[in-house]
Amino acid sequence: MNDIQKEFIEIVADVRAHLEYRRALGIKTIEVNTLDVRTLRAQPATVTVPQEKTVIAAAAPPVVKETAKIMTATQTGQPMTLDAIREEMGDCTRCKLSGGRKNIVFGEGDPKAVIVFVGEGPGFEEDQQGRPFVGEAGQLLTDIIEKGMKIKRAEVYICNIVKCRPPGNRNPEPDEVESCIGFVKEQIRAINPKVIVTLGNVPTQNLLNTKQGITKIRGTWQSYEGIPVMPTFHPAYLLRSPGEKKKVWEDIQLVMKRLGMAVPAK
Ligand code: SF4
Repeated sequence: MNDIQKEFIEIVADVRAHLEYRRALGIKTIEVNTLDVRTLRAQPATVTVPQEKTVIAAAAPPVVKETAKIMTATQTGQPMTLDAIREEMGDCTRCKLSGGRKNIVFGEGDPKAVIVFVGEGPGFEEDQQGRPFVGEAGQLLTDIIEKGMKIKRAEVYICNIVKCRPPGNRNPEPDEVESCIGFVKEQIRAINPKVIVTLGNVPTQNLLNTKQGITKIRGTWQSYEGIPVMPTFHPAYLLRSPGEKKKVWEDIQLVMKRLGMAVPAK
């Protein structure tokens, strides 16, 4: 065995020890850049060293963290269709939320909607059904749209910052948002709405790239890529704090006025 072979085997042993240490800590992801991800996907998850020894045999395929980059859109400069974005997403394993989901919750509604509502992530019911905002909080959002705005839910578009359910309905973690947010940005690009309504802190802070809390920023016009954004409370918060519904209705009225919709007197 020559020096290069010895060095290679030492490096592989170090990597293996590091991966086993991470696994012992309960860390099931590895971070690699996009190019590496594509290389990994093109190859088996093993590294073969001289003398036909196979190492780094992971017990389960690693979940890789990859920022959602959608090549078609960035290459052509043209928005993708929603179907093409969904196809690009595939059976996504770009972040660790893939491990606990039942369904990817892509989003639904009119592909040419004037209003896009963006929440933070699917909850239990959404994960079960693969549809956004279908639980108790979803019913409240539907009421805001149909009883308040007097339009059909199918006329707007509803989606989330992350497409897979965070365990226990916790907030998505920064690495999960980073991995997934490219998809919602492409969805917005595809739809090109006249107004975006962000529901709660997670979509507001991540789309607007701000640390301002929803309590302060709600009810004030913001902008994302030239599209007016109205941040407001998440319906799940309204279920816990029904006294805040009035503020959301005020925010929605601002949206309606901006779009030239008739606002009910009461
Ligand atoms: S949350 Fe988004 S990035 Fe993470 S696995 Fe689901 S679709 Fe992929």
